[in-house]
Amino acid sequence: AKAKGRGRFQFYSGEMNARALQRLRMENELRKAIDNNELRVAYQPKVDVQQRKIIGVEALVRWEHPKQGIVSPAEFIPLAEESGLIVDIDNWVLHKACHQASEWLNMGITCPVAVNVSALNFKKTNLVERIKTALREADLPASLLELEMTESIVMSDIELNTERLTQLKEMGTSISIDDFGTGYSSLSYLRRLPIDQVKIDRSFVNEIDCNNEDMAIVKAIIAMSTTLKMEVIAEGVETTTQTEKLSKAGCHRLQGFLYAKPMPAKFATETLLAGFD
Ligand code: C2E
Ligand code: CA
Ligand code: CA
Ligand code: CA
Repeated sequence: AKAKGRGRFQFYSGEMNARALQRLRMENELRKAIDNNELRVAYQPKVDVQQRKIIGVEALVRWEHPKQGIVSPAEFIPLAEESGLIVDIDNWVLHKACHQASEWLNMGITCPVAVNVSALNFKKTNLVERIKTALREADLPASLLELEMTESIVMSDIELNTERLTQLKEMGTSISIDDFGTGYSSLSYLRRLPIDQVKIDRSFVNEIDCNNEDMAIVKAIIAMSTTLKMEVIAEGVETTTQTEKLSKAGCHRLQGFLYAKPMPAKFATETLLAGFD
């Protein structure tokens, strides 16, 4: 039994080493992905079903690995966060997205673009400067840039957040809280932050067809945003029933596969030109 135990331990540790090695390899490849031009940005439209129009797009990073093909952000974003590479990746996406929105503006399409700001990136002291640079280089008005930060980021360090968010607001960008409902936001704290929009997390939207509790949470978030004069948007909308329920509850801004999947810039442009139908 002893020998078997030892053998089993070695088996597991061998497997763990293989996984650690795989991670290390992936991290090294990710390090080179920007320089090797392997990153892409996909744009997912957000719609207002009441106004019947596209109100913006979210920029989502994609990694086109030379051998593995498209690697999902769920796989490489955590790795990028642990290694610190996320700061460079976010910055690359920021520049790309600003240039795209500027190109649309030149075509006569006014379309705000949202980028995701990771926790590490938000904490960097030069974030505001880097955003200013990106806007200037792309010649994009700050009002067309939206920053999405998760609830956990915004709720972490009260002092830093109030200061940082105020700086970003003063610059003219708008601020959305991503994955809202999954964290532990205090209402009195939220009220004091310069937040423009909350994004109801997909996990609640998923379940509102069949789960009364989730519908109750969604209604509470909508009521809260109305009281605090914030916009509210729901992510991950996949069915018309979800649309009806959200819309009836007062949430008219929606994003999800029912309307559009994240797509390359070329198709996003076509979608924007075609408009909402
Ligand atoms: P997120 O910011 O919550 O983005 C929404 C995710 O939900 C995207 O996954 C999008 O493709 C997916 N989605 C949209 N509509 C639907 C729907 O109707 N059904 C379902 N099942 N999924 C839907 P994606 O692109 O794989 O990104 C996953 C996460 O990776 C993002 O979640 C975000 O946290 C992170 N991420 C993506 N791009 C970036 C980036 O440039 N920077 C940072 N820091 N994080 C990023
Ligand atoms: Ca997001
Ligand atoms: Ca989200
Ligand atoms: Ca989410």
